[in-house]
Amino acid sequence: MAFHPPLRDDLRGDAPYGAPQIDVPHLMNVNENPFPPSPEFIAHLQEAVGRAATGLNRYPDREFLDLRARLGAYLAADADLPAPIPAEQMWVANGSNEIMQQVFTAFGGPGRRALAFAPHYSMYPEYARNTLTEFVTEERGSAPGFELTDQMVLAGIERHDPTIVLLTSPNNPTGTALSLDLVRTAARTLEERGAILVVDEAYAEFRHAGVPSALSVLDEHPNLIVSRTMAKAFALAGARVGYMAAPRPLVDAVRVVRLPYHLSAIAQAVAHAALDFTDELLGSVAFLRQQRDELAAFLTGRGHDVAQSDSNFILFGTFADRRAVFEALLQRGVLIREVGPDGWLRVSVGSAEDNQAFRTALEEIDPA
Ligand SMILES: *Cc1c(COP(=O)(O)O)cnc(C)c1O
Repeated sequence: MAFHPPLRDDLRGDAPYGAPQIDVPHLMNVNENPFPPSPEFIAHLQEAVGRAATGLNRYPDREFLDLRARLGAYLAADADLPAPIPAEQMWVANGSNEIMQQVFTAFGGPGRRALAFAPHYSMYPEYARNTLTEFVTEERGSAPGFELTDQMVLAGIERHDPTIVLLTSPNNPTGTALSLDLVRTAARTLEERGAILVVDEAYAEFRHAGVPSALSVLDEHPNLIVSRTMAKAFALAGARVGYMAAPRPLVDAVRVVRLPYHLSAIAQAVAHAALDFTDELLGSVAFLRQQRDELAAFLTGRGHDVAQSDSNFILFGTFADRRAVFEALLQRGVLIREVGPDGWLRVSVGSAEDNQAFRTALEEIDPA
């Protein structure tokens, strides 16, 4: 007799999340940084990991206040804050995905709702499902701007009465950044309702000069969490290090639900080593921003609709059969992402060679 695992009813039929991992020359589908670590950084990593290895018989530091302090100083520099964000207002986990799941575990749960604005990052509904939180969405503005306005956010809050609102800036998959006014309005309204605002800034380092970070208003709101990651600008997707800044009571709430010793001594050592190499690792950001703007101009020049991007990817369209374009690019060794509203595709900005290969392939497939 076949055994039927007693899977939770709400998980039946669900497949594990995942963009395709296909071995092709030009990987432009999951917004990774195309540049691998330099030999100098690898040597530094080896030394740092070697030192951590001498103590691997012991559990790691559960609070890692030194790492939190360094990330708080890094964020203050990135967002031009007058003082470092204190260690007690920072938290770190295995990717910002784990940060988010911890936030949902602490503030979501049965009988509570999380609100996001579509098109949104594909993982948001999964954090909600995993924590038995109801997930609801409202639409962002229409293409090609996909703007979010105060009215849309306030109407969504009014309609759904969420405990958690997720705003993404720059947004994935559209690339759209948010104004500080909108963040302030949303945070204030949610504060009155006893709810929290999470601003996911996974791509913040790629924003155009003058575009603000929600960190600028962190001190004004007791209910604001800003989430960041080392996966994109720091070019460390493989290391799994994400982090957040928030008022101390919110950080302390997340500390209650984290698994003990969740951040391994190796991950902590890698994060420290990366911060030692901040300038080098972020050195690619200026190049990628410039390539992004050139790629956007190229796509616009071909007559596509192109969403204004403050990120390291571009959403463009529209195609009567986007699947066919995706497949034809793949046949030419270029893997992009079939995501976003019908007819749109998303390409991650890669190395100069990746971007050229993408252009050449697109011109072959779809001559202007
Ligand atoms: C890539 C991405 C992240 C990063 O997740 P990690 O777990 O840190 O790799 C977070 N949010 C959004 C919207 C993303 O696109």
